[in-house]
Amino acid sequence: MTAHDPLLPAVGASAVSSPALTEPVEDYLKAIYELESRFGAAATSDVASALAVAPASVTGMVRRLATQGFLDHVPYRGVQLTPRGRHAALRTIRRHRILECYLTGVLGYSWDLVHDEAERLEHAASDELIERMASALGHPTADPHGAPIPTVDGMVEERPHRTLAELPVGETARMLRVSDKNPSLLRYLADIALQPGAEVTMVSRAPFDGPLTLRIGHTEFAVGPTLAAQVLVEAMPFAAPAVAPDAADAVVAPSATAPSLPKSRKSTVR
Ligand SMILES: [Zn+2]
Repeated sequence: MTAHDPLLPAVGASAVSSPALTEPVEDYLKAIYELESRFGAAATSDVASALAVAPASVTGMVRRLATQGFLDHVPYRGVQLTPRGRHAALRTIRRHRILECYLTGVLGYSWDLVHDEAERLEHAASDELIERMASALGHPTADPHGAPIPTVDGMVEERPHRTLAELPVGETARMLRVSDKNPSLLRYLADIALQPGAEVTMVSRAPFDGPLTLRIGHTEFAVGPTLAAQVLVEAMPFAAPAVAPDAADAVVAPSATAPSLPKSRKSTVR
C-alpha cells in the first residue's frame, strides 16, 4: 500500500534498511523526534514552526505518517513516534551528525557552518558514504556540538546533564553540548573557548537574572543567563582543577582520570 503514496515510495519492513523515505518525510520524523525528546509529544503547531510550514500541511502529513505506521496520536498533546518512526528519525539524525563530524574533522569547516550543509546532505548521501565517513573518523559518538550520534541499530545515549545556568557558584563542570542551529551563538562560544570538553567554573552569579561570571581556562567571562541556559554541561568525573579548554583532550588522555569523557572529541577534531 505504501507504493501508492508518492511521499513514501518504497518503505520496507525496516526503515533503516530502506533508503527510500523522501526528504520531507525525513524532516518531519526528525523534527517530531526532537520535539518529543523535549516535551514528551510533538504538538502540530510546534511541528509547523520547527519546519516553517503551515499548520494545515502538518495536519495532512501527520495523518499520512500515522497511516504509514510512523506515528501515533496522543490525545490533546499531538503525536509520538512509533518504534518504526523513531528508528527512521534516528537514521537521519545519525547521517546528519556524522556529516557534521566529517565537515569539521576532515574538511576543516568551523562548527557554526556545518549544520546547513548537513541539512542538505543528510538526504542525499548514500548509507555507504555515511558509514565510510564514520569509519574514516574512527566511529565518533558525538557530533561537533556534542550531540550523541545514534548507532546504526538506532540506539542513542543521552548523557546526564544540566544547563550551565544551573551550575552552582564554585562548581566546575564539563561543557557537553549546545544546539547546532544558531551560528552566531556558536561563533561566540568558540571565541570564549566554551566548546564540548571544555571545563567551566561558575565564579559568581549576579542577582535578579544578572550576568554570570564563568572561568574557562584561565580567563573569566561574563555571560547572560539566556546564553547559559542554552549550554548543557555534565558533572566532572571528580573534583579536578580547571584546565585550558584547548588542552582538555591532551590532559585527560595520559592520566586516565576521566573514564566517561566524550571520547569522540578526539576523532572529530583530529
Ligand atoms: Zn546540525
